[in-house]
Amino acid sequence: MFGWLFGKKAQNNDGLVCVACDSADVTELAPQTYRCNECGYEGGDGFAAWQDMKTRAAYDDWSVAQLREHAAAQLNEARSALVAVEGLTTPSTSSTGAFAEFAGVTVSVGGNNLSGQSDRDLALQIAADRQAAVAKAASGLHAATLTLDTLVDKGVIELGAVLTNARIAGDDPGTLRLRIENCLHQLG
Ligand SMILES: [Zn+2]
Repeated sequence: MFGWLFGKKAQNNDGLVCVACDSADVTELAPQTYRCNECGYEGGDGFAAWQDMKTRAAYDDWSVAQLREHAAAQLNEARSALVAVEGLTTPSTSSTGAFAEFAGVTVSVGGNNLSGQSDRDLALQIAADRQAAVAKAASGLHAATLTLDTLVDKGVIELGAVLTNARIAGDDPGTLRLRIENCLHQLG
């Protein structure tokens, strides 16, 4: 942060430094948001909010029919990710072998070469798959709120508790699914 004292390149006003290459030669795009002039990386604490703002602004030119269709597609895709999560349960072991339920189907793990390691690996894989699916659903719901906000601004739907709750980030699959379904209902 005191690089300028030691003859390094002059820093930008906000002291932004590229997290990818440590360069301070960055162009500020928005508060706490930059593009690195050395390596091209774009990021910063404000990057996600800046992207959302641009997405939201672009929606102003969309028709109500387009927005409705887009929001429904976003919400349905997010819900699909959660349906996949519900089928992913952790493996269980028995005296004769290890089995895992994958998307509702019980599969034998390892066959004749069954080992605790393969069972554990599968459990870790399933946990990772679950986490990825929940994250996908949460980001899908977040993306849908931008579309729904536009419909609110155009006076098509009302801003109620459903949309307010949808903005609250969460990682519980049941809560996420309820919020997604409430939004779909609100959309009509
Ligand atoms: Zn960089």
